[in-house]
Amino acid sequence: METTALVAELVEKYRGGPAPLVQVGDPVLRQVAEPVAGQLGAELLGELVEILFATMRAAPGVGVAAPQIGIPLRVAVLGDPAEVSEEVAVARGRRPLPEFVIVNPEYTADADEIGFYEGCLSMPGYQAVVHRPESVLATYTDLDGVRHTDRLTGWPARIFQHETDHLAGIVYLDKAQTRSVTTNDTLKERWGQPTPAAAAQALGFAQNP
Ligand code: ZN
Repeated sequence: METTALVAELVEKYRGGPAPLVQVGDPVLRQVAEPVAGQLGAELLGELVEILFATMRAAPGVGVAAPQIGIPLRVAVLGDPAEVSEEVAVARGRRPLPEFVIVNPEYTADADEIGFYEGCLSMPGYQAVVHRPESVLATYTDLDGVRHTDRLTGWPARIFQHETDHLAGIVYLDKAQTRSVTTNDTLKERWGQPTPAAAAQALGFAQNP
């Protein structure tokens, strides 16, 4: 189905509310998403974004990309209340990130890579360490059509990269240190430290590149 018709159908069904999250194995998560170029119109795009925000809050999660609700378009939403201890916040650079939408996002690395555990709403139950640039130059368009370039650091940089990767058909496991994979229960039990240093030693993976 054509993307605009797909969005219209989704909006008809889930207007204003959360939509079901597509799980890994669905080809939509492996497609290169189509750029947003006016094909939806402002109203339909706004309604799609509303569903993305509702889906992110309901999960709850810190980001959702359109392919995760079955729409192969270059749109995602981000936002992180960062309800973590001060020790974790400092080690991971995890500070509250107000909710915002990114249309046609891109990023370029602006610092060396650093490894931390991350997960994905499309692959629930597991987490793995991913090496990512600690800082990026993030470019995106907002719903008013204004292009922004921001330097993001720490957890906001990680979220931006994770969501933008979804739009290229990339999931975090593609970039993960596979020996670091852990269930959420085991992570909670053993690897809740601010950095994955102890996990790296015990499981045999590189904490950082
Ligand atoms: Zn994800």
